Amino acid sequence: MNIRELFEEKNLVFSFEIFPPKVSSSVETIYNTLEELKDLTPDYISVTYGAGGSLTENRTCELSSLVKSKYGIESLAHLTCINSTKEEIDFLLRDLKNAGIENILALRGDMTSHKLSKGEFNYASELVNHIKRRGDFNIVGACYPEGHIDCKDLDRDILNLKLKEEAGASHFISQLFFDNNYFYDFLEKKEKYNIKSPIQAGIMPVINKKQVERITSLCGTNIPKKFLKIMDRYEHNKEALRDAGIAYATEQMVDLISSGVDGIHLYTMNNPYVAKRINGSISSIINSVNNGNAI
Ligand code: FAD
Repeated sequence: MNIRELFEEKNLVFSFEIFPPKVSSSVETIYNTLEELKDLTPDYISVTYGAGGSLTENRTCELSSLVKSKYGIESLAHLTCINSTKEEIDFLLRDLKNAGIENILALRGDMTSHKLSKGEFNYASELVNHIKRRGDFNIVGACYPEGHIDCKDLDRDILNLKLKEEAGASHFISQLFFDNNYFYDFLEKKEKYNIKSPIQAGIMPVINKKQVERITSLCGTNIPKKFLKIMDRYEHNKEALRDAGIAYATEQMVDLISSGVDGIHLYTMNNPYVAKRINGSISSIINSVNNGNAI
């Protein structure tokens, strides 16, 4: 199904993100994770594409297809363009179509030492435009409540987001953030620039201090003092840090849902235990919102 339709059907769309297993392990290693995530009945599951330079691009199509065919959950395949030619992208789009994929998260991607720009795509909006012309897919885009790290001016960044919407992106998923106020300010700016597409808030429960430091240094997300205190206090106690990270993410989500967000996209980091704990705490809230009892 076209996942844009979910926003017409539901007051709150709740989805998960997973990443493909490393090329050195069998794709079957993800089966247990998916079995457990399936029980949490997400609206869809997205599958990353070569994120973190992991050389797993070929697995995104296979795994996105598996999410649909084996687990009966709608899928969203991520696709980056910066280091691909148009011909290579067309080849990948053919594979995705043949695998029954209907939804693509169209991204620019980042340049790394092994991923250089091929000069045919400079921005995600160009990929959105390219995919749209084929007419085969529903297209989703990424957005940045605190601004993208390459763009110092948040208003300019939002105008660039508007270009993605005009090119054909039908909804957006946000970068992770730890302070909801950034997200609310961003929603106000989105209104100001007349961006109509629904926005899902990206939430990552943090269970490892090094992981947060690495991610925030890459994407420039601010770490609030309250959250820093948690990481410093429990960094040497795995269980305590995990529990505090889950509690923090849960509190963020309850606040977001109560404020009427369009949806939440949970970065599961392939950890079904954490997803289950969070789901256990908020499933009645999500159901209540979707049954119209909380509106
Ligand atoms: P764009 O929308 O192109 O924006 C990139 C920068 O260019 C911004 O600063 C923007 O303001 C600026 N810009 C845009 N258009 C113009 C223009 N016309 N003129 C001038 N400046 C412009 N990476 C992966 O490798 N694999 C993944 O699976 C993956 N999944 C992601 C999922 C989500 C939800 C998010 C938020 C990010 C994901 N990323 C992934 C990371 C993403 O590739 C990077 O953040 C990348 O740096 C930007 O991608 P984008 O699609 O947002 O780019």
